[in-house]
Amino acid sequence: MKQFTDEEKLNILSDLISMKSVNENEIEVANYLKNLFLDYDIDSTIIPVTDTRVNLVAEIGSGHPVIGISGHMDVVSAGDENEWVSDPFTLTERNGKLYGRGTNDMKAGLVNLVLVMIELKENNELINGTVRFMATTGEEVGGAGSKKLYEEGYMADVEYLWVAEPSHDTIIYSHKGSLNLKVTSKGESAHSSMPHLGRNAINPLMAYLLELDRKLNNDDRVNDVLGQLVMSTTLFNAGNQVNSVPEKAIAEINVRTIPEFDNDEVIALFKKTAETYSKNGAQIDVDVTMSLPSVFTSGKSNMVNLAKSIGRKHLGFDIDLKGSPGATDASNLLRDKGVDFPFMMFGPGETKMAHKTNEYVYKDYYFAFFDIYKDLILELTRK
Ligand SMILES: [Zn+2]
Repeated sequence: MKQFTDEEKLNILSDLISMKSVNENEIEVANYLKNLFLDYDIDSTIIPVTDTRVNLVAEIGSGHPVIGISGHMDVVSAGDENEWVSDPFTLTERNGKLYGRGTNDMKAGLVNLVLVMIELKENNELINGTVRFMATTGEEVGGAGSKKLYEEGYMADVEYLWVAEPSHDTIIYSHKGSLNLKVTSKGESAHSSMPHLGRNAINPLMAYLLELDRKLNNDDRVNDVLGQLVMSTTLFNAGNQVNSVPEKAIAEINVRTIPEFDNDEVIALFKKTAETYSKNGAQIDVDVTMSLPSVFTSGKSNMVNLAKSIGRKHLGFDIDLKGSPGATDASNLLRDKGVDFPFMMFGPGETKMAHKTNEYVYKDYYFAFFDIYKDLILELTRK
């Protein structure tokens, strides 16, 4: 009978934290997990996504139901490492908290999913159904890994999906989409003493951005769970020197979308407005650099109900049900699933802690979620 001890759980998490899986180095995590699975006779497949990036998929059991469990292997940069109290890539315990880059977002959740699968397999506890583990690459930078899994059909037969992103006291069953646009305005340079000889690239771009900002952020469509769409211009670069009329200006925009005002409609609006400006003497081009649709499910499923009661049992407090403004891999994984599809994001850690300096996860929650995940799979696959 395999039962991971607390020490083993901490050691494995510590190994994962020591791997700097900041952009493009997820393969180290994938190889480690592949070997760990192999120690317990679980086959897994490394799926190349780009030259350097990979996903990892492993499966136990057979037949229905097919439960999809997912987490990303990448972490965001540690930022200024001097701002950290302890080394971001050394798991460090202080006052019941486990510090390190990726403890919260989301290696604690990822390790739990792996260890639960191993115990279920090793102890023959899964009497029914399939559990498919899908570890992704590049979640923090556009979701290339989850897109690949969706395209290769790994979600086709999945009947339940949960993503172990940090949200310890709340089950997220819907979230906004995320759309990145890059807008380039081209003009003609001239000396600023004779601006009429050139065409200023900044001016029309500012007008264009402000017009869209007013239009999008004042749109009155509201999703009951997710609220309104929001748009922010987040980057603006232009000009070479103070006495030259700029020939080029580039802005980048992030839009958080809702089903009622979705990515396609926003893209069409940006392009149509650009055409209007271009007809009037400007030259504005729009590129879509990332497009993750919103995820909207009803949250009404036996899985969510079970997660609520099992969560309460192991955490000792009531679990909320909510929508979230942040996007996850579910944007890609659930591309063709309907509103009734049982989906949740639920994992150890606090949503607000993601991407922060001195990131931590509470040790108790890390352990509790192992029990939650295991009980949940056993309940869902019970005949
Ligand atoms: Zn995350």
